[in-house]
Amino acid sequence: MKQSQLFTKTRREAPKDEVATNAQLLIRAGYVHKEMAGVYSFLPLGLRALNKIVGIIREEMDAIGGQEVSLAALQDKKAWEASGRWSDDVIDVWFKTSLKNGGELGLGTTHEEPLTALMKDHIRSFRDLPAAVYQFQTKFRNETRAKSGIMRGREFLMKDLYSFNVDEKAHAEFYEKAKAAYVRIFDRLGIGDKTYVTFASGGSFSKYSHEFQTVSEAGEDTIYVHEGKRIAVNKEVLNDEVLDNLGLKRGDLVEMKAIETGNIFTLGARYSEALGLSYKDAEGKSVPVFMGSYGIGPGRAMGAIVELLSDERGLVWPESVAPFGVHLVALFDEGGAVKRAADELYAKLTEEGVEVLYDDRDASAGEKFGDADLIGIPKRYVISAKTLKDGHVEVKDRATGKVSMERFS
Ligand code: ATP
Ligand code: MG
Repeated sequence: MKQSQLFTKTRREAPKDEVATNAQLLIRAGYVHKEMAGVYSFLPLGLRALNKIVGIIREEMDAIGGQEVSLAALQDKKAWEASGRWSDDVIDVWFKTSLKNGGELGLGTTHEEPLTALMKDHIRSFRDLPAAVYQFQTKFRNETRAKSGIMRGREFLMKDLYSFNVDEKAHAEFYEKAKAAYVRIFDRLGIGDKTYVTFASGGSFSKYSHEFQTVSEAGEDTIYVHEGKRIAVNKEVLNDEVLDNLGLKRGDLVEMKAIETGNIFTLGARYSEALGLSYKDAEGKSVPVFMGSYGIGPGRAMGAIVELLSDERGLVWPESVAPFGVHLVALFDEGGAVKRAADELYAKLTEEGVEVLYDDRDASAGEKFGDADLIGIPKRYVISAKTLKDGHVEVKDRATGKVSMERFS
């Protein structure tokens, strides 16, 4: 892509009311636009990065047998009344609205109820199990605190997967696979070393759920990390009994702030019983389906990557998430030789399948370098009259600042 064609502009200042580092940088670099508190639109660079994250998560969900769907955002209250979750006392972040001819609707905060209801059309016998169904879908939550930028949106993208198994044993096997897939996702997103599998409250069925907590001062959660075992315990559940249970000593744990980037949950028969999702076993007996849910926010993950990896000059993306692999910065000369060389290199890299953002704008070197630092593409190629004179292009690594010269022919 030629930068002269990119409609977004970088800016020096973020909006005054934006307090989160992730949103400040993403707005300044032209990745997102703030509509209002907790509501962000994604612009070309931001959408490319978000889609890279989505692509990684999709590969890992497909690899454990997930099948992708896309459920409606508008929610029929019937399913939610059946589970007891229509009430604002139970889910306090509902956005609700009504139809012109009467009748209430909700904007989906999560999708256990509609998917459980939907699966009744498809699961009848034990032969129809297991199933794992997932989506990337917009959730709406009337969050009271919206001070964490794109990490806590009132409208946000979530990958939510739901598993359906015959019993707890079959569920547990899938649950472990999903947990391993989540570990791979955070590794591939470049924040695996700061992300801990964290024991958290399990709700009605199991003792614990597992959160994926990414250590950062920008996090809203407090966790207690055991570095040796690479696990943590959420403050919400930390007590002597839990420590005993997990074989941990309080003195070995370090308190840290963290971002909940993912969450996996054993649901058991909570929703299948409420909504009547059951199967006939080999003896013809009707048994409620055993369920689990597995969430991750691609936008929150993107915000976490920004919080962890960016520096005082701007964004720093891991290759796997960067909107482009190479930022080609050309410092044009009078004669046009640099332009010709840069055009040629752009064509060559593009042909090789490299995703290139080509700064072909008529702007000063200072402006181009400042923008390149802010935009944060991992590799910068600089062509100027100087580099060209001895047949080189300068290659700079955004993360390390390391510069090398590559032969240019
Ligand atoms: P939190 O405790 O932070 O409010 P949650 O426990 O309500 O989150 P889940 O319902 O488990 O979150 O959602 C699954 C995942 O979706 C979370 O782990 C997180 O990555 C993401 N997520 C949740 N709420 C938001 C939000 N408001 N904005 C962006 N991502 C979110
Ligand atoms: Mg949570």
